[in-house]
Amino acid sequence: MAELTLSNITKRFQDEHGEIIAVDDLSLDIDDGEFLVLVGPSGCGKSTTLRMIAGLETVSEGQMRLDGVPIEGLSPQERDLAMVFQSYALYPHMTVKENMKFGLEEATNMSADEIDSRVEETARMLNIDELLGRKPSELSGGQQQRVALGRAIVRDPQVFLLDEPLANLDAKLRAQMRTELQRLQEDLGVTTIYVTHDQTEAMTMGDRIAVLNDGVLQQVGTPLELYHKPANQFVAGFIGEPSMNFFEMTVADTRLVSDTFEYPLSSDTRDSLGPVTDVVLGIRPEDIELVGDTESPHTFETIVDVVEPKGNENNVYLTIGPNRAEPTTFVATTEGMKSIEEGAKTRVRIPEQAIHIFDAKSGTSLKNRSLTDVEDSELTL
Ligand code: ATP
Repeated sequence: MAELTLSNITKRFQDEHGEIIAVDDLSLDIDDGEFLVLVGPSGCGKSTTLRMIAGLETVSEGQMRLDGVPIEGLSPQERDLAMVFQSYALYPHMTVKENMKFGLEEATNMSADEIDSRVEETARMLNIDELLGRKPSELSGGQQQRVALGRAIVRDPQVFLLDEPLANLDAKLRAQMRTELQRLQEDLGVTTIYVTHDQTEAMTMGDRIAVLNDGVLQQVGTPLELYHKPANQFVAGFIGEPSMNFFEMTVADTRLVSDTFEYPLSSDTRDSLGPVTDVVLGIRPEDIELVGDTESPHTFETIVDVVEPKGNENNVYLTIGPNRAEPTTFVATTEGMKSIEEGAKTRVRIPEQAIHIFDAKSGTSLKNRSLTDVEDSELTL
């Protein structure tokens, strides 16, 4: 049982230019056995948060509790947490086995036999039992990564803290290790906080995701909540690849108007905007339909600018308002088997049920997509 609670955590650093607020009033509850991913762009405060939890960095304000017990005053060793870094931080002169044993020998009073059997069991679990006699320099990146994980697992900690542990691996191995790590975490049932700047990792691995920007928590929720019900434009743009398309628009009566097109709104959608006049219209690439020359409500004439074939699907970059000096470009994803010519004219439909609308000033979400079309599927929130 290990439940971690962060209450109003702030971290201030001083440098020659003054004060930096790396983490700003962060509150988060991580449930026992949960896999929480902390995600955000470089410099948003992810590593600082993890280092404060680990005890490697002091907290300027706020409280952290493990199963209700405050931990700020405890040393890293006393916290019973195991951290895995991007750099692996293996001891180069020690074998794999010695690396994995090291923490146990230092921090516990387990017998040598107990330590050996735990190391061997963990090595089997991670498929590195053949490598126990090798030095880190004789291992591939993926194998080193497993040893670093193994060293954390043998300690049987209350919480795993993982800081971009897959960042040094190539794309294929990273995808494979993502699945392995998830399976491992599920089997072990250890509360885990996983830091990454990669939204794909966050979406595919997390039970829940916490999105940070500039030290401020933007939203915490399940991957699908964040994807379909973003709290603001930052989350909407950060989660999803290719990113959500955004169009700056003005509210005029019952329409949204920009220099390049007008978008009529139903009365329900119009009502959800209240008195706001400057908005951002958002639409995910997969929700845009290419409809050829069909004219119907919410369709717009575009020109195909660039087609990026990805095999299973295409990213189609389209421009709207082609008569303008600077037409608006946006991206739609379409089935890979459909051929689309660059330079061709096509109409696209932006279905009203799939649009998001944000307050242009604050970024707050005023309307998120309707989920009635997915409600019956297993993917519902
Ligand atoms: P990355 O993905 O690039 O590792 P991050 O989200 O983990 O970024 P942090 O390393 O937590 O970000 O840094 C958050 C902010 O705090 C940054 O502006 C960083 O420059 C600043 N910072 C971190 N450590 C220190 C320090 N020891 N002294 C001064 N500023 C620091």
